[in-house]
Amino acid sequence: MDKKIAIYAGSFDPITKGHLDIIKRSSKLFDKIIVGVLNNSHKKYWFSLEEREDMIKRSLENEKIENVEIDSFEGLLVDFMNRKKCNILIRGLRAVSDYEYELQLALTNAVLSKNNIETIFLPASRENLYLSASIVKDVALNKGELIEFLPKVIIDDVMKKANEKR
Ligand code: ADP
Repeated sequence: MDKKIAIYAGSFDPITKGHLDIIKRSSKLFDKIIVGVLNNSHKKYWFSLEEREDMIKRSLENEKIENVEIDSFEGLLVDFMNRKKCNILIRGLRAVSDYEYELQLALTNAVLSKNNIETIFLPASRENLYLSASIVKDVALNKGELIEFLPKVIIDDVMKKANEKR
């Protein structure tokens, strides 16, 4: 039988406990999850693509999550999903504010893929409901405690980057 594969796409700048929770939960629902790290040349990231991928890799190793592959893409998500021969997209949904954008993205991907891509939303866990990578970067810039928000193994990376940014 064909393996059930799903893609979880995002910027992961950096990966947070919220992202990690979605990866963990979806890895139990599918044979394999591909974490697709978006590299948009028009977007300013704190971390390079290599740094973002490396932080995801270390976070997964630390949690011993094994059925996950990390890959990256530029351009349209539908093209990346085509290349990976995968038509299931996982997205996380936090508060209402995510809904509008996520619905737009899901419908656009459905149109572009001629209804071939299905988007599956997993609700954020209660403890991660208001957690975002941008809030975490603000906390880091202001020298706040990061342990509640980030996988332990990447805290030093984020502190170091915040020190360079200050
Ligand atoms: P993007 O730049 O495409 O929004 P992100 O890296 O911010 O990418 O997020 C990728 C996906 O993870 C999105 O579906 C987003 O809603 C979801 N996500 C982000 N933070 C959390 C969180 N704390 N809990 C659950 N899902 C989250």
